[in-house]
Amino acid sequence: MTEVRRLKNYIGGNWVASQTQSYEKVYNPATKEILCEVPLSTKADLEEAVKIAAQAFETWKEVAVPRRARILFNYQQLLIKHKEELAKLITLENGKNLNEALGEVQRGIENVEFAAGTPTLMMGDSLASIATDVEVANYRYPIGVVAGITPFNFPMMVPCWMFPMAISCGNTFILKPSERTPLLTERLVELFTEAGLPAGVFNIVYGAHDIVNGMIEHPEVKAISFVGSEPVGKYVYTQGSKHLKRVQALTGAKNHSIVLKDADLDDAVTNIVSAAFGSAGERCMACAVVTVEEAVADKFINKLQEKSTEIKVGNGLDDGVFLGPVIREANQKRTFNYIEKGLAEGAKLIVDGRKNSPDNGYFVGATIFDGVTTDMTIWRDEIFAPVLSIIRVKDLKEAITTANQSEFANGACLFTNNASAIRYFREHIDAGMLGINLGVPAPMAFFPFSGWKSSFYGTLHANGKDSVEFYTRKKVVTARYPKATI
Ligand code: NAD
Repeated sequence: MTEVRRLKNYIGGNWVASQTQSYEKVYNPATKEILCEVPLSTKADLEEAVKIAAQAFETWKEVAVPRRARILFNYQQLLIKHKEELAKLITLENGKNLNEALGEVQRGIENVEFAAGTPTLMMGDSLASIATDVEVANYRYPIGVVAGITPFNFPMMVPCWMFPMAISCGNTFILKPSERTPLLTERLVELFTEAGLPAGVFNIVYGAHDIVNGMIEHPEVKAISFVGSEPVGKYVYTQGSKHLKRVQALTGAKNHSIVLKDADLDDAVTNIVSAAFGSAGERCMACAVVTVEEAVADKFINKLQEKSTEIKVGNGLDDGVFLGPVIREANQKRTFNYIEKGLAEGAKLIVDGRKNSPDNGYFVGATIFDGVTTDMTIWRDEIFAPVLSIIRVKDLKEAITTANQSEFANGACLFTNNASAIRYFREHIDAGMLGINLGVPAPMAFFPFSGWKSSFYGTLHANGKDSVEFYTRKKVVTARYPKATI
Protein backbone atom coordinates (compact mmCIF):
# COMPACT_ATOMS: atom_id res chain seq x y z
CA MET A 1 0.00 0.00 0.00
CA THR A 2 1.45 3.40 -0.95
CA GLU A 3 1.47 5.99 1.80
CA VAL A 4 -0.78 9.00 1.30
CA ARG A 5 1.15 12.28 1.22
CA ARG A 6 0.39 14.72 4.03
CA LEU A 7 0.48 18.40 3.08
CA LYS A 8 2.54 20.82 5.12
CA ASN A 9 1.89 24.47 5.88
CA TYR A 10 4.09 27.11 4.23
CA ILE A 11 5.37 29.52 6.86
CA GLY A 12 8.31 31.90 6.54
CA GLY A 13 9.51 30.34 3.30
CA ASN A 14 9.55 26.75 4.66
CA TRP A 15 7.22 23.77 4.43
CA VAL A 16 6.39 23.07 8.06
CA ALA A 17 4.47 20.07 9.42
CA SER A 18 1.35 21.11 11.32
CA GLN A 19 1.17 20.40 15.05
CA THR A 20 -2.23 18.78 14.54
CA GLN A 21 -3.18 15.11 14.88
CA SER A 22 -6.17 15.71 12.68
CA TYR A 23 -6.05 15.26 8.88
CA GLU A 24 -8.75 15.23 6.22
CA LYS A 25 -8.60 13.15 3.02
CA VAL A 26 -8.56 15.02 -0.28
CA TYR A 27 -10.30 13.13 -3.10
CA ASN A 28 -10.29 13.26 -6.85
CA PRO A 29 -14.08 13.66 -7.20
CA ALA A 30 -14.06 12.04 -10.65
CA THR A 31 -12.52 8.76 -9.40
CA LYS A 32 -12.92 8.82 -5.58
CA GLU A 33 -9.13 8.27 -5.41
CA ILE A 34 -7.36 9.79 -2.37
CA LEU A 35 -4.92 12.46 -3.59
CA CYS A 36 -3.38 13.52 -0.27
CA GLU A 37 -4.29 14.42 3.29
CA VAL A 38 -4.65 18.01 4.44
CA PRO A 39 -3.88 19.05 8.02
CA LEU A 40 -6.64 20.66 10.03
CA SER A 41 -4.04 22.97 11.54
CA THR A 42 -4.12 24.26 15.09
CA LYS A 43 -4.28 27.78 16.46
CA ALA A 44 -0.60 27.36 17.43
CA ASP A 45 0.24 26.82 13.73
CA LEU A 46 -1.65 29.98 12.88
CA GLU A 47 0.03 31.88 15.71
CA GLU A 48 3.43 31.03 14.22
CA ALA A 49 2.34 32.09 10.73
CA VAL A 50 0.97 35.43 12.00
CA LYS A 51 4.19 36.10 13.95
CA ILE A 52 6.33 35.46 10.85
CA ALA A 53 4.00 37.45 8.56
CA ALA A 54 4.03 40.40 10.99
CA GLN A 55 7.86 40.36 11.05
CA ALA A 56 8.04 40.12 7.26
CA PHE A 57 5.67 43.08 6.96
CA GLU A 58 8.23 45.37 8.58
CA THR A 59 10.63 44.91 5.65
CA TRP A 60 8.19 44.16 2.80
CA LYS A 61 6.30 47.42 3.30
CA GLU A 62 9.59 49.31 2.79
CA VAL A 63 10.32 47.70 -0.60
CA ALA A 64 9.70 50.30 -3.32
CA VAL A 65 6.40 49.77 -5.10
CA PRO A 66 7.92 49.29 -8.59
CA ARG A 67 10.28 46.64 -7.18
CA ARG A 68 7.35 44.78 -5.66
CA ALA A 69 5.53 45.04 -8.98
CA ARG A 70 8.52 43.58 -10.83
CA ILE A 71 8.18 40.36 -8.79
CA LEU A 72 4.58 40.15 -9.97
CA PHE A 73 5.72 40.48 -13.58
CA ASN A 74 8.11 37.54 -13.00
CA TYR A 75 5.28 35.61 -11.36
CA GLN A 76 2.99 36.22 -14.33
CA GLN A 77 5.64 34.75 -16.67
CA LEU A 78 6.01 31.64 -14.49
CA LEU A 79 2.26 31.13 -14.27
CA ILE A 80 2.02 31.30 -18.06
CA LYS A 81 4.84 28.77 -18.37
CA HIS A 82 3.08 26.37 -15.98
CA LYS A 83 -0.46 26.95 -17.26
CA GLU A 84 -1.14 23.35 -18.36
CA GLU A 85 0.28 21.86 -15.16
CA LEU A 86 -1.85 24.20 -13.00
CA ALA A 87 -4.98 23.47 -15.03
CA LYS A 88 -4.49 19.70 -14.66
CA LEU A 89 -4.16 20.11 -10.90
CA ILE A 90 -7.44 22.04 -10.81
CA THR A 91 -9.23 19.29 -12.76
CA LEU A 92 -7.70 16.63 -10.52
CA GLU A 93 -8.85 18.11 -7.22
CA ASN A 94 -11.96 20.05 -8.28
CA GLY A 95 -13.33 17.99 -11.17
CA LYS A 96 -14.14 20.75 -13.70
CA ASN A 97 -13.13 19.94 -17.28
CA LEU A 98 -9.66 20.84 -18.52
CA ASN A 99 -10.86 23.69 -20.77
CA GLU A 100 -12.65 25.30 -17.86
CA ALA A 101 -9.56 24.77 -15.69
CA LEU A 102 -7.39 26.46 -18.32
CA GLY A 103 -9.86 29.35 -18.34
CA GLU A 104 -9.60 29.58 -14.57
CA VAL A 105 -5.79 29.70 -14.71
CA GLN A 106 -6.05 32.50 -17.29
CA ARG A 107 -8.39 34.43 -14.96
CA GLY A 108 -5.88 34.03 -12.11
CA ILE A 109 -3.05 35.29 -14.32
CA GLU A 110 -5.13 38.36 -15.20
CA ASN A 111 -5.35 39.16 -11.48
CA VAL A 112 -1.57 39.01 -11.22
CA GLU A 113 -1.28 41.30 -14.26
CA PHE A 114 -3.70 43.78 -12.67
CA ALA A 115 -1.79 43.69 -9.37
CA ALA A 116 1.47 44.42 -11.24
CA GLY A 117 -0.06 47.85 -11.92
CA THR A 118 0.24 49.00 -8.30
CA PRO A 119 2.73 51.79 -9.12
CA THR A 120 -0.21 53.47 -10.85
CA LEU A 121 -3.05 52.01 -8.79
CA MET A 122 -1.56 52.99 -5.41
CA MET A 123 -1.05 56.62 -6.37
CA GLY A 124 -2.73 59.09 -4.07
CA ASP A 125 -4.06 62.52 -4.94
CA SER A 126 -3.13 66.05 -4.04
CA LEU A 127 -4.31 69.62 -4.22
CA ALA A 128 -1.62 72.28 -4.57
CA SER A 129 -3.61 75.02 -2.87
CA ILE A 130 -6.34 74.57 -0.25
CA ALA A 131 -5.54 77.90 1.50
CA THR A 132 -2.84 80.50 1.13
CA ASP A 133 0.48 78.59 0.99
CA VAL A 134 -1.19 75.37 2.16
CA GLU A 135 -1.34 72.12 0.18
CA VAL A 136 -2.70 68.63 0.80
CA ALA A 137 -1.46 65.25 -0.38
CA ASN A 138 -2.98 61.82 0.16
CA TYR A 139 -0.63 58.80 0.31
CA ARG A 140 -1.56 55.11 0.39
CA TYR A 141 0.10 52.58 2.71
CA PRO A 142 -0.37 48.85 3.26
CA ILE A 143 -2.29 47.74 6.35
CA GLY A 144 -0.27 44.77 7.69
CA VAL A 145 -1.05 41.07 7.86
CA VAL A 146 -4.03 40.13 5.68
CA ALA A 147 -5.86 36.77 5.81
CA GLY A 148 -7.63 35.04 2.93
CA ILE A 149 -10.24 32.27 3.26
CA THR A 150 -11.28 30.61 0.01
CA PRO A 151 -13.83 28.07 -1.32
CA PHE A 152 -13.34 24.83 -3.25
CA ASN A 153 -14.88 25.88 -6.54
CA PHE A 154 -12.07 28.09 -7.91
CA PRO A 155 -8.84 26.88 -6.26
CA MET A 156 -6.74 29.26 -8.38
CA MET A 157 -8.88 32.20 -9.44
CA VAL A 158 -10.39 33.07 -6.06
CA PRO A 159 -7.10 33.11 -4.09
CA CYS A 160 -5.74 35.24 -6.97
CA TRP A 161 -8.52 37.79 -6.30
CA MET A 162 -6.75 38.34 -2.97
CA PHE A 163 -3.06 37.69 -2.45
CA PRO A 164 -1.48 39.25 -5.59
CA MET A 165 -3.05 42.66 -4.94
CA ALA A 166 -2.67 42.51 -1.14
CA ILE A 167 1.03 41.63 -1.50
CA SER A 168 1.70 44.09 -4.31
CA CYS A 169 0.25 46.83 -2.09
CA GLY A 170 2.90 45.94 0.55
CA ASN A 171 0.93 43.67 2.91
CA THR A 172 1.92 40.17 3.98
CA PHE A 173 -0.61 37.39 3.50
CA ILE A 174 -1.85 34.17 5.09
CA LEU A 175 -4.06 32.00 2.90
CA LYS A 176 -6.36 29.30 4.23
CA PRO A 177 -7.52 27.49 1.11
CA SER A 178 -10.50 25.16 1.06
CA GLU A 179 -9.65 21.87 2.77
CA ARG A 180 -11.35 20.17 -0.19
CA THR A 181 -9.01 21.67 -2.85
CA PRO A 182 -5.69 22.46 -1.15
CA LEU A 183 -3.25 21.03 -3.71
CA LEU A 184 -2.98 23.85 -6.22
CA THR A 185 -2.00 26.34 -3.53
CA GLU A 186 1.35 24.56 -3.14
CA ARG A 187 2.28 25.46 -6.69
CA LEU A 188 0.94 29.01 -6.35
CA VAL A 189 3.30 29.72 -3.48
CA GLU A 190 6.26 27.80 -4.97
CA LEU A 191 6.08 29.77 -8.21
CA PHE A 192 5.72 33.11 -6.38
CA THR A 193 8.84 32.25 -4.36
CA GLU A 194 10.66 31.35 -7.59
CA ALA A 195 9.61 34.75 -8.95
CA GLY A 196 11.58 36.43 -6.16
CA LEU A 197 9.08 36.91 -3.32
CA PRO A 198 10.88 37.11 0.04
CA ALA A 199 10.18 34.56 2.77
CA GLY A 200 7.29 35.32 5.12
CA VAL A 201 5.34 37.51 2.68
CA PHE A 202 2.99 34.75 1.46
CA ASN A 203 2.12 31.96 3.89
CA ILE A 204 -0.33 29.06 3.77
CA VAL A 205 -2.06 27.51 6.74
CA TYR A 206 -4.33 24.60 5.83
CA GLY A 207 -7.36 23.86 7.94
CA ALA A 208 -11.00 24.62 8.58
CA HIS A 209 -13.08 26.56 11.11
CA ASP A 210 -10.42 26.66 13.89
CA ILE A 211 -8.07 28.56 11.59
CA VAL A 212 -10.88 30.85 10.42
CA ASN A 213 -11.75 31.64 14.06
CA GLY A 214 -8.06 32.18 14.82
CA MET A 215 -7.81 34.66 11.95
CA ILE A 216 -10.91 36.48 13.17
CA GLU A 217 -9.62 36.76 16.73
CA HIS A 218 -5.94 37.53 16.14
CA PRO A 219 -5.18 41.24 16.75
CA GLU A 220 -2.27 41.20 14.26
CA VAL A 221 -4.56 40.19 11.39
CA LYS A 222 -5.80 43.54 10.10
CA ALA A 223 -8.10 42.46 7.28
CA ILE A 224 -9.93 39.35 6.07
CA SER A 225 -10.97 38.54 2.52
CA PHE A 226 -13.54 35.73 2.49
CA VAL A 227 -15.20 33.91 -0.40
CA GLY A 228 -17.58 31.03 0.29
CA SER A 229 -21.13 30.18 1.31
CA GLU A 230 -23.58 32.69 2.74
CA PRO A 231 -23.88 31.46 6.35
CA VAL A 232 -20.10 31.24 6.76
CA GLY A 233 -19.54 34.60 5.04
CA LYS A 234 -22.08 36.29 7.28
CA TYR A 235 -20.37 34.75 10.32
CA VAL A 236 -16.89 35.86 9.20
CA TYR A 237 -18.17 39.37 8.43
CA THR A 238 -20.01 39.88 11.74
CA GLN A 239 -17.31 38.29 13.91
CA GLY A 240 -14.46 39.92 12.01
CA SER A 241 -16.12 43.33 12.32
CA LYS A 242 -16.68 42.70 16.03
CA HIS A 243 -12.92 42.17 16.29
CA LEU A 244 -12.46 45.52 14.53
CA LYS A 245 -11.08 44.20 11.26
CA ARG A 246 -11.78 45.14 7.71
CA VAL A 247 -13.79 42.31 6.17
CA GLN A 248 -15.02 41.67 2.64
CA ALA A 249 -17.18 38.54 2.34
CA LEU A 250 -18.33 37.35 -1.08
CA THR A 251 -21.00 34.73 -0.56
CA GLY A 252 -23.76 32.63 -2.15
CA ALA A 253 -25.92 33.19 -5.20
CA LYS A 254 -29.06 32.20 -7.09
CA ASN A 255 -28.58 33.81 -10.49
CA HIS A 256 -31.50 34.36 -12.87
CA SER A 257 -31.36 34.53 -16.67
CA ILE A 258 -34.28 36.11 -18.50
CA VAL A 259 -35.13 35.10 -22.07
CA LEU A 260 -37.43 37.48 -23.98
CA LYS A 261 -39.48 36.52 -27.03
CA ASP A 262 -37.27 38.46 -29.46
CA ALA A 263 -34.04 36.75 -28.30
CA ASP A 264 -31.93 34.54 -30.55
CA LEU A 265 -33.09 31.31 -28.91
CA ASP A 266 -30.25 29.10 -30.19
CA ASP A 267 -27.72 31.53 -28.84
CA ALA A 268 -29.58 31.81 -25.52
CA VAL A 269 -29.69 28.01 -25.17
CA THR A 270 -25.96 27.63 -25.87
CA ASN A 271 -25.11 30.28 -23.28
CA ILE A 272 -27.53 29.03 -20.65
CA VAL A 273 -26.45 25.37 -20.95
CA SER A 274 -22.87 26.46 -20.44
CA ALA A 275 -23.78 28.79 -17.53
CA ALA A 276 -26.05 26.26 -15.76
CA PHE A 277 -24.05 23.06 -16.20
CA GLY A 278 -20.47 24.26 -16.72
CA SER A 279 -18.22 23.51 -13.72
CA ALA A 280 -21.07 21.21 -12.59
CA GLY A 281 -23.09 24.27 -11.59
CA GLU A 282 -20.52 24.94 -8.87
CA ARG A 283 -20.01 28.60 -9.80
CA CYS A 284 -21.21 31.60 -7.86
CA MET A 285 -22.13 33.03 -11.27
CA ALA A 286 -23.90 29.87 -12.47
CA CYS A 287 -27.33 30.25 -14.01
CA ALA A 288 -29.72 28.60 -11.53
CA VAL A 289 -33.07 29.89 -12.83
CA VAL A 290 -34.32 30.76 -16.34
CA THR A 291 -37.38 32.93 -16.59
CA VAL A 292 -38.73 32.76 -20.11
CA GLU A 293 -41.52 34.72 -21.78
CA GLU A 294 -44.53 32.47 -22.24
CA ALA A 295 -44.74 33.32 -25.96
CA VAL A 296 -41.51 31.41 -26.71
CA ALA A 297 -41.37 29.13 -23.66
CA ASP A 298 -42.19 25.81 -25.37
CA LYS A 299 -39.83 26.44 -28.28
CA PHE A 300 -37.01 27.53 -25.96
CA ILE A 301 -37.49 24.64 -23.54
CA ASN A 302 -37.46 22.05 -26.36
CA LYS A 303 -34.15 23.39 -27.61
CA LEU A 304 -32.76 23.53 -24.06
CA GLN A 305 -33.82 19.96 -23.36
CA GLU A 306 -32.27 18.72 -26.60
CA LYS A 307 -28.93 20.46 -25.97
CA SER A 308 -28.77 19.32 -22.32
CA THR A 309 -29.18 15.67 -23.18
CA GLU A 310 -26.15 15.91 -25.54
CA ILE A 311 -23.82 16.79 -22.63
CA LYS A 312 -21.01 14.31 -22.00
CA VAL A 313 -20.56 13.54 -18.29
CA GLY A 314 -17.26 12.15 -16.96
CA ASN A 315 -13.70 12.76 -15.88
CA GLY A 316 -12.75 16.33 -16.85
CA LEU A 317 -9.36 15.12 -18.12
CA ASP A 318 -11.02 12.99 -20.82
CA ASP A 319 -11.63 14.35 -24.33
CA GLY A 320 -15.07 15.75 -25.02
CA VAL A 321 -16.22 15.70 -21.39
CA PHE A 322 -18.19 18.83 -20.53
CA LEU A 323 -19.72 17.98 -17.16
CA GLY A 324 -17.40 16.76 -14.41
CA PRO A 325 -18.35 15.60 -10.91
CA VAL A 326 -19.57 17.67 -7.97
CA ILE A 327 -16.98 17.99 -5.25
CA ARG A 328 -17.95 15.30 -2.71
CA GLU A 329 -20.39 12.47 -2.10
CA ALA A 330 -22.27 14.68 0.38
CA ASN A 331 -22.82 17.30 -2.37
CA GLN A 332 -24.08 14.58 -4.73
CA LYS A 333 -26.53 13.28 -2.08
CA ARG A 334 -27.64 16.82 -1.24
CA THR A 335 -28.37 17.43 -4.94
CA PHE A 336 -30.38 14.21 -5.27
CA ASN A 337 -32.37 15.32 -2.19
CA TYR A 338 -33.14 18.63 -3.89
CA ILE A 339 -34.34 16.75 -6.98
CA GLU A 340 -36.70 14.72 -4.73
CA LYS A 341 -37.84 17.93 -3.04
CA GLY A 342 -38.53 19.62 -6.40
CA LEU A 343 -40.72 16.66 -7.42
CA ALA A 344 -42.51 16.61 -4.05
CA GLU A 345 -43.27 20.34 -4.31
CA GLY A 346 -44.85 19.89 -7.74
CA ALA A 347 -42.18 20.97 -10.25
CA LYS A 348 -41.95 19.00 -13.52
CA LEU A 349 -38.64 17.15 -13.97
CA ILE A 350 -37.98 17.35 -17.73
CA VAL A 351 -34.30 16.30 -17.68
CA ASP A 352 -33.35 13.88 -14.88
CA GLY A 353 -29.61 14.05 -14.16
CA ARG A 354 -29.82 11.08 -11.82
CA LYS A 355 -30.05 8.87 -14.91
CA ASN A 356 -26.71 10.23 -16.13
CA SER A 357 -24.63 9.94 -12.96
CA PRO A 358 -21.95 7.23 -13.31
CA ASP A 359 -21.05 5.86 -9.88
CA ASN A 360 -17.26 5.75 -10.28
CA GLY A 361 -17.20 9.42 -9.16
CA TYR A 362 -19.51 12.01 -7.56
CA PHE A 363 -21.45 12.72 -10.74
CA VAL A 364 -24.80 14.43 -11.23
CA GLY A 365 -26.04 14.79 -14.80
CA ALA A 366 -27.64 17.97 -16.13
CA THR A 367 -31.06 18.35 -14.49
CA ILE A 368 -33.93 20.64 -15.52
CA PHE A 369 -37.22 21.42 -13.78
CA ASP A 370 -40.06 23.20 -15.60
CA GLY A 371 -43.06 24.81 -13.87
CA VAL A 372 -41.05 26.11 -10.91
CA THR A 373 -42.61 28.74 -8.64
CA THR A 374 -41.06 31.10 -6.09
CA ASP A 375 -42.54 29.22 -3.11
CA MET A 376 -40.47 26.11 -3.95
CA THR A 377 -37.27 25.20 -2.13
CA ILE A 378 -35.46 24.53 -5.43
CA TRP A 379 -36.15 28.15 -6.45
CA ARG A 380 -35.09 29.61 -3.10
CA ASP A 381 -31.96 27.69 -2.05
CA GLU A 382 -28.54 27.81 -3.64
CA ILE A 383 -28.19 24.17 -4.77
CA PHE A 384 -24.70 24.68 -6.24
CA ALA A 385 -24.98 21.75 -8.64
CA PRO A 386 -26.11 21.21 -12.27
CA VAL A 387 -29.81 21.77 -11.53
CA LEU A 388 -31.70 24.40 -13.52
CA SER A 389 -35.19 25.72 -12.72
CA ILE A 390 -37.49 27.21 -15.35
CA ILE A 391 -40.18 29.77 -14.61
CA ARG A 392 -42.59 30.90 -17.32
CA VAL A 393 -43.50 34.60 -17.15
CA LYS A 394 -45.76 36.90 -19.15
CA ASP A 395 -43.18 39.68 -19.64
CA LEU A 396 -39.91 41.30 -18.56
CA LYS A 397 -41.53 43.12 -15.67
CA GLU A 398 -42.75 39.86 -14.15
CA ALA A 399 -39.35 38.25 -14.76
CA ILE A 400 -37.60 41.03 -12.85
CA THR A 401 -40.13 40.99 -9.99
CA THR A 402 -39.54 37.24 -9.72
CA ALA A 403 -35.73 37.49 -9.68
CA ASN A 404 -35.81 40.35 -7.17
CA GLN A 405 -37.61 38.16 -4.63
CA SER A 406 -34.40 36.16 -4.15
CA GLU A 407 -32.34 36.91 -1.06
CA PHE A 408 -29.26 36.68 -3.31
CA ALA A 409 -28.21 39.22 -5.92
CA ASN A 410 -24.89 38.24 -7.46
CA GLY A 411 -25.44 38.07 -11.22
CA ALA A 412 -28.37 38.32 -13.65
CA CYS A 413 -28.58 37.97 -17.45
CA LEU A 414 -30.96 39.13 -20.14
CA PHE A 415 -31.30 37.67 -23.63
CA THR A 416 -32.91 40.12 -26.06
CA ASN A 417 -32.23 42.50 -28.94
CA ASN A 418 -34.48 45.21 -27.54
CA ALA A 419 -32.48 48.24 -26.34
CA SER A 420 -35.32 49.60 -24.19
CA ALA A 421 -35.70 46.22 -22.47
CA ILE A 422 -31.95 46.16 -21.78
CA ARG A 423 -32.11 49.59 -20.17
CA TYR A 424 -35.20 48.68 -18.14
CA PHE A 425 -33.46 45.50 -16.95
CA ARG A 426 -30.31 47.42 -15.96
CA GLU A 427 -32.31 49.94 -13.97
CA HIS A 428 -34.65 47.53 -12.15
CA ILE A 429 -32.89 44.22 -11.54
CA ASP A 430 -31.37 43.64 -8.07
CA ALA A 431 -27.96 42.23 -8.96
CA GLY A 432 -24.43 43.55 -9.01
CA MET A 433 -23.12 41.83 -12.17
CA LEU A 434 -25.26 41.90 -15.29
CA GLY A 435 -24.94 40.06 -18.59
CA ILE A 436 -26.61 41.00 -21.85
CA ASN A 437 -26.81 38.12 -24.34
CA LEU A 438 -24.19 36.13 -22.43
CA GLY A 439 -24.39 33.56 -19.68
CA VAL A 440 -21.66 34.21 -17.10
CA PRO A 441 -21.06 37.93 -16.57
CA ALA A 442 -18.05 37.51 -14.27
CA PRO A 443 -16.14 40.82 -14.42
CA MET A 444 -12.44 40.82 -15.33
CA ALA A 445 -9.78 41.61 -12.73
CA PHE A 446 -9.90 45.38 -13.22
CA PHE A 447 -13.63 45.62 -12.37
CA PRO A 448 -15.10 44.86 -8.93
CA PHE A 449 -16.82 41.51 -8.29
CA SER A 450 -19.87 43.32 -7.06
CA GLY A 451 -22.58 41.11 -5.54
CA TRP A 452 -25.53 42.71 -3.74
CA LYS A 453 -27.89 41.70 -0.90
CA SER A 454 -26.98 38.37 0.76
CA SER A 455 -24.35 37.70 -1.93
CA PHE A 456 -21.92 40.15 -0.34
CA TYR A 457 -21.13 41.56 3.10
CA GLY A 458 -18.85 44.55 3.35
CA THR A 459 -18.25 47.78 1.50
CA LEU A 460 -15.28 47.24 -0.79
CA HIS A 461 -15.54 44.31 -3.21
CA ALA A 462 -12.78 42.04 -4.49
CA ASN A 463 -10.89 43.18 -7.62
CA GLY A 464 -10.87 46.50 -9.44
CA LYS A 465 -10.02 49.74 -7.63
CA ASP A 466 -12.06 48.46 -4.67
CA SER A 467 -9.28 45.95 -3.96
CA VAL A 468 -6.62 48.66 -3.80
CA GLU A 469 -8.80 50.60 -1.35
CA PHE A 470 -9.40 47.48 0.71
CA TYR A 471 -5.72 46.55 1.02
CA THR A 472 -4.43 50.09 1.76
CA ARG A 473 -4.92 52.90 4.26
CA LYS A 474 -4.20 56.58 3.78
CA LYS A 475 -2.17 59.39 5.24
CA VAL A 476 -3.43 62.80 4.28
CA VAL A 477 -0.77 65.46 4.80
CA THR A 478 -1.76 69.09 5.09
CA ALA A 479 1.32 71.31 4.80
CA ARG A 480 1.82 75.05 5.19
CA TYR A 481 4.92 76.46 3.51
CA PRO A 482 6.46 79.66 4.80
CA LYS A 483 6.30 82.58 2.35
CA ALA A 484 8.95 82.06 -0.24
CA THR A 485 11.96 84.28 0.23
CA ILE A 486 13.43 83.46 -3.16
P1 NAD B 1 -17.81 27.12 2.39
O1 NAD B 1 -18.49 28.28 3.00
O2 NAD B 1 -18.17 25.76 2.84
O3 NAD B 1 -16.23 27.24 2.62
C1 NAD B 1 -15.54 28.45 2.33
C2 NAD B 1 -14.38 28.58 3.31
O4 NAD B 1 -14.91 28.73 4.63
C3 NAD B 1 -13.48 27.36 3.31
O5 NAD B 1 -12.13 27.78 3.37
C4 NAD B 1 -13.91 26.60 4.57
O6 NAD B 1 -12.84 25.91 5.17
C5 NAD B 1 -14.40 27.72 5.49
N1 NAD B 1 -15.49 27.25 6.37
C6 NAD B 1 -16.47 26.36 6.06
N2 NAD B 1 -17.29 26.19 7.12
C7 NAD B 1 -16.85 27.00 8.10
C8 NAD B 1 -17.29 27.29 9.43
N3 NAD B 1 -18.35 26.69 9.95
N4 NAD B 1 -16.60 28.19 10.15
C9 NAD B 1 -15.52 28.80 9.64
N5 NAD B 1 -15.04 28.56 8.39
C10 NAD B 1 -15.70 27.67 7.62
O7 NAD B 1 -17.98 27.27 0.79
P2 NAD B 1 -17.59 26.23 -0.32
O8 NAD B 1 -18.57 25.11 -0.30
O9 NAD B 1 -16.14 25.92 -0.27
O10 NAD B 1 -17.83 27.11 -1.65
C11 NAD B 1 -19.08 27.25 -2.26
C12 NAD B 1 -19.75 28.55 -1.88
O11 NAD B 1 -18.91 29.65 -2.20
C13 NAD B 1 -21.04 28.79 -2.65
O12 NAD B 1 -22.00 29.26 -1.77
C14 NAD B 1 -20.66 29.85 -3.67
O13 NAD B 1 -21.73 30.66 -4.11
C15 NAD B 1 -19.67 30.64 -2.89
N6 NAD B 1 -18.81 31.43 -3.77
C16 NAD B 1 -19.07 32.75 -3.88
C17 NAD B 1 -18.32 33.55 -4.72
C18 NAD B 1 -18.64 35.01 -4.87
O14 NAD B 1 -17.87 35.70 -5.50
N7 NAD B 1 -19.73 35.50 -4.32
C19 NAD B 1 -17.28 32.97 -5.47
C20 NAD B 1 -17.03 31.60 -5.32
C21 NAD B 1 -17.81 30.83 -4.46
